[in-house]
Amino acid sequence: MKVIDHINQAKDTLVSFEVLPPLKGKGIEALYKHLDPLMEFKPSFINVTYHRSEHIFKKRADGSFEKVVVRKRPGTEAICAAIMNKYNVDTVPHLICGGFNINETEDALINLRYLGIDNVLVLRGDAAKNETTFDAEPGGHRYANELLKQVTNLNAGIYIEEDLKGTQQRTEFCIGVAGYPEKHFEAPNMQTDLRYLKEKVDCGADYIVTQMFFDNEKYYAFVKSCREAGINVPIIPGLKPIYNKKQLTVLPKTFHIDLPADLANEIQKCKTDQDVEEVGKRWLLEQSKDLKKNGVPVLHYYTLGKPHIVADVVREIR
Ligand code: FAD
Repeated sequence: MKVIDHINQAKDTLVSFEVLPPLKGKGIEALYKHLDPLMEFKPSFINVTYHRSEHIFKKRADGSFEKVVVRKRPGTEAICAAIMNKYNVDTVPHLICGGFNINETEDALINLRYLGIDNVLVLRGDAAKNETTFDAEPGGHRYANELLKQVTNLNAGIYIEEDLKGTQQRTEFCIGVAGYPEKHFEAPNMQTDLRYLKEKVDCGADYIVTQMFFDNEKYYAFVKSCREAGINVPIIPGLKPIYNKKQLTVLPKTFHIDLPADLANEIQKCKTDQDVEEVGKRWLLEQSKDLKKNGVPVLHYYTLGKPHIVADVVREIR
C-alpha cells in the first residue's frame, strides 16, 4: 500500500521507522532482531536507507596506494522485500541519484515493481566519502527532482527507450522527498531551498519527510513556510534519539542542524551513557507528544541501532 493512502485513511497520527541495511557480510538476522521489538507498534511503513559506494585508498605491499571502490551496506531493495515478506508491512526503499546512471535507475525501479514495492523516497544523496562536493554519475541525475521526473515518467509508462513509449507496463510508485526545517546546507537561504522543494512537489512528490530536528518550533515554522509557498502535501517529521555525548558535535556537523541549548546543557551534565540515554529519551518523548497533539500525519523515527529507546517512547504515546 502507498504511504499517501496510509496517511489519507488514518484517523490518528501514524508511526513509521527507518533502518539501515546491515554491514556487508553481517546477515539479515541482526536487522530482524532490531525490528522485532518495534513491530508491536504496527508501523504503517518502514524505510530502508541507501548507501552508495565509497572510494577508499588501500595500501599496497610496496607502500603505494590504490583507489578502490567499496560498498559497505548493499541490499536496500532486497531488504525491503524481505521485511515485507516477514512482517507484512509496507516498505520504502530510498533511491538516490549518486552512483547511478539513468539506465541503472530504470532497472532498479523495474526490480522494485517486480518485488511488489509501492513506494520510493527520492533523494539526491550526499557527496561520496572523501569527496567534498556531490558529483553526479556520468549519465546520471544531478538533483532529486530529475530522478523524481524519471519515476513519474515510469508511472506514466514512459521508459528511456523511445520506442517503448506507451507500450509498457506503468509503475505506480508513491513518491516521498526530503525537506529541511533548518535548510539544506548547500542552499544559500531558506527561500531558495523552498523553491526547489516546491519544484519537487510540483513534479509529483506525494509527501515530504524532514531531516531530524530537536526543536519542534523549527518544524512548525517550516510547515508554515511551506504552506505559504504553496507546498500542500503532508510533511512527516523525522525524529532521532540522542544517546551519547559524541552526538552533541557529530549531529550538527554531519546533518547541519542545531541542538537546543537546554538539551545540550542537560546532556553535558550527564555522567554516564545511561544518563545521556535517559535525557535523550525524555526529550524524544516530549517532542513526540507535542507533535502528536498538533496533529502531524506520521511520527517517523530514525531508529539507528537504538530500537529500545524508540520502543519506550512509542509505547508511551500510543
Ligand atoms: P535535492 O532536493 O536535489 O537538493 C540538494 C540541494 O540542491 C539543496 O540545497 C537544494 O536547495 C538544491 N537544489 C535542488 N534542486 C536544484 C536545482 N534544480 N538547481 C540548483 N539547486 C538545486 N542520503 C543517502 O545517501 N541515502 C539515504 O538513504 C538518505 N536518506 C535520507 C532521508 C531523509 C529523510 C533525509 C532528509 C535525507 C536523506 N539522505 C540520504 C541525505 C540526502 O541525500 C542529502 O541531504 C542530500 O545532500 C540532499 O538530498 P535531497 O534529495 O534533499 O537533494
